[in-house]
Amino acid sequence: MTRPLHHRYRTVQAASTTKKPVRTIRSNRWVSTCASARECKTSESALTGPRINLLDDRHLTRTAEPGSGVSAEPVHKPPRARGRPPVCDTCPSEKPTRRSLIKWSAAAAAAAAAVPLAGTAQAAGLSIATGAKRGAAFYVAQAGDTLKTIAGRFLGNVDRWKELLAANPGLHGRDPRAGQKVTLPESPAGPNTRTFAPIPADSKPTPFGPEGYRLTRFGDRGYGVQVGPGQSAFVVTDTGVVVLDAPSSHAAVLPKVIASVTDKPVTHFVYSHSHSDHVGAANLFANAVLIGHADTASTLRAAKDPARPVPTVTFTDQHVLDVGGQRLVLSYPGPNHESGNIIIHAPQQRFAMMVDVAVPGWAPFRAFGSADSVPGVLRAHNELMKLDIEHFVGGHMHRYGGKQDIAVSREFVFDMWNETTKAIAATPIAPFFGQVEAGNTWAAVELWYDAIAVKAEDPIIRKWTGRLGAVDVWLRENLKTMAVSARVDQPKDLGV
Ligand SMILES: [Zn+2]
Ligand SMILES: [Zn+2]
Repeated sequence: MTRPLHHRYRTVQAASTTKKPVRTIRSNRWVSTCASARECKTSESALTGPRINLLDDRHLTRTAEPGSGVSAEPVHKPPRARGRPPVCDTCPSEKPTRRSLIKWSAAAAAAAAAVPLAGTAQAAGLSIATGAKRGAAFYVAQAGDTLKTIAGRFLGNVDRWKELLAANPGLHGRDPRAGQKVTLPESPAGPNTRTFAPIPADSKPTPFGPEGYRLTRFGDRGYGVQVGPGQSAFVVTDTGVVVLDAPSSHAAVLPKVIASVTDKPVTHFVYSHSHSDHVGAANLFANAVLIGHADTASTLRAAKDPARPVPTVTFTDQHVLDVGGQRLVLSYPGPNHESGNIIIHAPQQRFAMMVDVAVPGWAPFRAFGSADSVPGVLRAHNELMKLDIEHFVGGHMHRYGGKQDIAVSREFVFDMWNETTKAIAATPIAPFFGQVEAGNTWAAVELWYDAIAVKAEDPIIRKWTGRLGAVDVWLRENLKTMAVSARVDQPKDLGV
């Protein structure tokens, strides 16, 4: 059968190491730079054996990862180059010259070699790679990218597309094709860094005093404690102090801070959840009554961490703690960021604490905040919205929030969910099996999730860049996490 020229693959020999792919790629064969290859409907099933598709930078970079195991001879032997460079018969406008091809593959190989530096971005699925050696940072355009979306994502403002255009005269005023390299204006931090959108004003840190922590009053008996970007809280009752979380970064100051407002002893300690960045200094209060969700107790029993003793009082749905005239309602909205992560509500002080679900002023952390249950994180937002509160402790970053911050976070995560489910419905999976080696279902599914995330992220970037901090940092990864959840969790209560 006649195969479009853009389906020719360079081969990597058994001796190829993961370190220097540029030397192991033979240079005496043509490769097409046709950017439309991923859309091509020609079946790849006749091809067997490992190969590298030089048209897809992600495939190439993956071969540079240790243990990627690219070693066997391919069955399909591309013809030797003769005469004119190949022209893709699907896209006749593509007429790469030999020189441009060699240059292009050297750049691709350099991008592959830059994987350790660009590792975070690769993990985030962004396909951003640093420029070869001393070059400026660049981004490899994905299907659906425009100069405006790239400007929005990396320069923080869609209106800065003209700067991109100026830095990329080769685009001739057009939006980039999938796979095309877009040079980003040099980052002030120098090469080999990603360029991120600026942080909104009310998400920025404010300096601490010389004591190195910040104490904030919630009502007349509640207090929030900040050390760096970590947060804990406590309530002073008539008979003692109830401490809510103790991050390891607070170990040196928390007892001191409590002593600065009361000489009463700590009688109770409440675990928001099991994660050590929030309760890694729980052992400071090992003599208090230790309270947590049953799942937190179970996780900590397995962890056997002396810094996080197992809670002695546990519950599954709700626990009302009445102590010294103060009430704390501990409730569980179901698995969310972690199974066992609870809402702590102090109705008299009109504050609530729920950690790692809604971070005031910020988009979610990677892997959608390492969520045990993505739908559960959305549901937890719904539960938080029901509380009559003035202050909210999210556990991380530079400030506390209020009801409005929960509402904004809720709108953001529901926008993500809705765009993801829409993108899934609009993206058939079948064509992606035609783009990978026969039988490599995971590769096809990965490309499918990539395509879904690409489709879902544009409206999010347009709507949200500048409203929350770090919208661009993990958006694509988080949308992929959501897409996987939408497929397997199939919640019927969230709606579109
Ligand atoms: Zn956590
Ligand atoms: Zn956390």
